[in-house]
Amino acid sequence: MRAVVYKGTNEVAVEQVDDPRLEAPTDVLVRITTTAICGSDLHMYEGRTVAETGIVFGHENMGIVEEVGSGVTRIRKGDRISLPFNVACGFCKNCLAGKSAFCLTVNPPYAGGAYGYVGMGPYTGGQAEYLRVPFADYNALVLPPGDEHENDYAMLADIFPTGYHATVLADLNPGESIVVFGAGPVGLMAAYSAVLKGASKVFVVDKVASRLKLAEDIGAIPIDFSAGDPVEQVVDQTDGLGADKGVDAVGYQATADSGEEQPAVVLNQLVDAVRHTGRLGIVGLYLPQDPGAPDENAANGRLLFNVGRFFEKGQKMGTGQADAKAYNAQLRDLIVAGRATPSFVVSKEVPLDEAPDAYARFDAREDGYSKVVLKP
Ligand code: NAD
Ligand code: ZN
Repeated sequence: MRAVVYKGTNEVAVEQVDDPRLEAPTDVLVRITTTAICGSDLHMYEGRTVAETGIVFGHENMGIVEEVGSGVTRIRKGDRISLPFNVACGFCKNCLAGKSAFCLTVNPPYAGGAYGYVGMGPYTGGQAEYLRVPFADYNALVLPPGDEHENDYAMLADIFPTGYHATVLADLNPGESIVVFGAGPVGLMAAYSAVLKGASKVFVVDKVASRLKLAEDIGAIPIDFSAGDPVEQVVDQTDGLGADKGVDAVGYQATADSGEEQPAVVLNQLVDAVRHTGRLGIVGLYLPQDPGAPDENAANGRLLFNVGRFFEKGQKMGTGQADAKAYNAQLRDLIVAGRATPSFVVSKEVPLDEAPDAYARFDAREDGYSKVVLKP
């Protein structure tokens, strides 16, 4: 089959690779209809991780079930399904607690697996014609048949649940204000979730005009950090107090790539832009130390966070990969009911063969490349 293969820093190619096949009775095989490029793929693409060349990318996948393992009981051939980016077993201590992003079975000795991602287990990505889905009864979310809402449902694999998770980590309640750093696809989905939850004011911080425009279109207040201190802009519009809650949907990319220790730019601004006792949801990625990089390397997750200010403000913080499965059924039902259209974030739809060009443009945050979906 054809697949998007990582070739080295800033390079992917669409190449012939081995067809996936059923490896366990609990697997299904899916013919991919839509798969998206994620900001998380860019960490590998830009060469900031220890991802090895030759791996197939793609953790935001949906498609039609082609083949079903003998131990699968709930999923049938022909079902249209969305796959949470997390690969999880459904029966370990963390999965039973609803924390499928920290599954203890799929990627030992670490907690949490994903398709096509460095350090997240042996699961090939879905930017390809076919994908093997482990523990399919647990992982697959069945969608209404047909091809309606394809790009809306495509957002259920990762960024819609992840954006929603950010508002859960931040404990956002109706009527509260929230500031979201980052108007990438994840930040926009966090802002959209906040709007759906009935936030009174939603601030979105970025500098890319087309992304800030998308934020404005859903009823958020755009904050251009290239036009002035984003903290001041938020504090000025919240009676001098700061927003009630905050989200980091940027992560460590706001810092320099390497070298001596760097300030955790967005985390520190978030603490300042959120009021005393406010709560912070961190979904932007801070990669852990990897064996290949020197200890003091900023790209290694060792950043200078102002703990004193965080303590003084009495804030709380929630972090980590999102448990997509915790929210995807409810978010699907909002789409079915016509109450959510997360595809507003999709700006480009291209065939699989055009992935190399789409990667380069999405990586450059080019206008019109806020979220790219591939159609194998
Ligand atoms: P993205 O890179 O397209 O979006 C990041 C945005 O942040 C960009 O628009 C950029 O202009 C903006 N930005 C850069 N520096 C900034 C600053 N100092 N202040 C404000 N904005 C700034 O990627 P994305 O797809 O939206 O993903 C965002 C982050 O979320 C990435 O780190 C990604 O790895 C992570 N992510 C986490 C999960 C999870 O489960 N926790 C899931 C998906 C993605
Ligand atoms: Zn993703």
